[in-house]
Amino acid sequence: MSEVVLEARDITRKFMISSGFMRAKRPLHAVNGVNLKLHRGEVLALVGESGCGKTTLAKMLLGLLPPSSGSLELDGQPLASLSHLDVARIVQPIFQDPYSSLNPRKTIGNIISLPLVAQGDKDPASWRQRAEEIMELVGLPRRVYNNFPSQLSGGQRQRVAIARALINRPRVVICDEPTSALDVSVQSQILNLLQDLRQELGLTYLMISHNLAVVEHMATRIAVMYLGRVVEEGDAETVYNSPRHPYTKALLGSVLTPDPNLGVPDTHLGAAYPNPLDMPSGCTFHPRCAQAMPSCTSEVPLPVPTGSGHVECNLYEEEQDKMRMTS
Ligand code: SF4
Repeated sequence: MSEVVLEARDITRKFMISSGFMRAKRPLHAVNGVNLKLHRGEVLALVGESGCGKTTLAKMLLGLLPPSSGSLELDGQPLASLSHLDVARIVQPIFQDPYSSLNPRKTIGNIISLPLVAQGDKDPASWRQRAEEIMELVGLPRRVYNNFPSQLSGGQRQRVAIARALINRPRVVICDEPTSALDVSVQSQILNLLQDLRQELGLTYLMISHNLAVVEHMATRIAVMYLGRVVEEGDAETVYNSPRHPYTKALLGSVLTPDPNLGVPDTHLGAAYPNPLDMPSGCTFHPRCAQAMPSCTSEVPLPVPTGSGHVECNLYEEEQDKMRMTS
C-alpha cells in the first residue's frame, strides 16, 4: 500500500444549535468519530445524502474548521501544528460552483496566480509564466489570461478553479461536487481532465459527491457516510459489486445510471433522513433499515473489518461471532 498523505483519527465536530427562543442550545454532531486514510495516488469518494457531514469533514481536512476532538495528519505531520500556508501548499479545494468561487472583479491571470503571491512569490514575471503553464495543462487558451470570469463558459471557469488549485502543486485535492453545477456536455470533460491531471501530477483526490455515476467513473476507494459516521469503506470495486451495509445497498441500488446529471439518487428508504439534533438510538440507521433487528435500537454497531475496509452494522458482528464460534 502506498504512503498515507492524509489521515483522520476519530475526529468529531460538534456545533451548538439554538432550538428556539429562550431554549438552551443543543449539540449537533455533524461528524461523529471518523477514521480515514488517504493513500498517495488514490481517489477516495465520500458519498452520502445531504446533511451527512461530508462538507464539514472536508472543511476540517482543509484546515478551515478545527475538529472538536480527534487528530488529523497531513504528510505525517499534525495538521494543528501547520500554518494555513503550509496546509494550503499540501491540500487544495475545488468547489462545486466555479462562478461563485471566482472573484468576478479579478482577471483570470490574477485569479490563477493569487496562490503564488500568497505563498510569497514576489516576481510578477514568474507569476505569468507559471500561470500560463498551468493554463495549458488544464486546457485553457492563453488568450483568456486578461479576461474576467463572466467572459468564460461554465466549463472554462471550472478549469480556472482547477488551475488555481494546482498552481502550487499540492499533493491532495479535495473536490467538492466538482461537476454538479456544469452542463452535462462538459461534466465528463472535467472528470477526464481531473483523471489526466492525477496521472500527470501524481495527485491524490478526496472526491465528495452524491452522484453515483461520478463516483463510479473516478473512485478507487469509497467511503459511505451516514449521520456523521463512515458506515462502510473499501475499495471501489468491492463496495460497488458487493456492498455490505444496508444503507450502501439502498444507495447503490437506487438510481445507478450512466447519466451524471441525474444527481441525488432516490434511496427508497421510506422514513425521512433523521434530524441530526435527534439522533436515533443504537444504530442511527435503524428507523430506515429493512434489515433492522431488535438489538439495533440499542446497540451501536462497531466497525467490523472487511477485506479492504470496514462496515459498521450489527449483521456482521453476529456473522463474525458465529465464525469465531465455529472455528
Ligand atoms: Fe440495519 Fe441493524 Fe445494520 Fe443498523 S446495525 S444497518 S439497523 S441491520
